[in-house]
Amino acid sequence: MLSFDFDKWTIRSDPDLTREVYASIDTSGAELCGCEECFNFAAVRHLVYTPEILNLLDWFGVDPLLESGVRHRGRLDSGLHLYSGWFHLVGEITAGPLTPVAAAREGEKSIVSLIPSGDGLQFGFSTARGNAPDEFFGLPVVQFEFCAELPWVSNGPEPA
Ligand SMILES: [Zn+2]
Repeated sequence: MLSFDFDKWTIRSDPDLTREVYASIDTSGAELCGCEECFNFAAVRHLVYTPEILNLLDWFGVDPLLESGVRHRGRLDSGLHLYSGWFHLVGEITAGPLTPVAAAREGEKSIVSLIPSGDGLQFGFSTARGNAPDEFFGLPVVQFEFCAELPWVSNGPEPA
């Protein structure tokens, strides 16, 4: 396990084991779901992550094409769409907030534990593992969470 200090968190992680788990996962959560909102996310996935986030995911051994899942949270006044999403990695949070963004209620300050990474992207960590792929079964897991503001490019009906 390697220890990593980031902003308010200290994360112990096992990048090699995480890489092994991702090597055994074939399909991202968005593609597994297959709804129009997830399809749109997959279509704009290349716009989601800043270099900072991509470096971080790489350091953790996470494959940025294989998010565990995403959720469409609504269309913003700007015309962009707010999404939440999750990756998982083998490890544990040894210091910092443990609360999952997914547990907060709609319309409340649900993303306060996340930190900004430019262009409407925010991210953070939690101990939630309810959305972790089966491949993480039996392993200690940290959830890497993000919120992103993304365009609608799908030909399907644009949701509110
Ligand atoms: Zn979906």
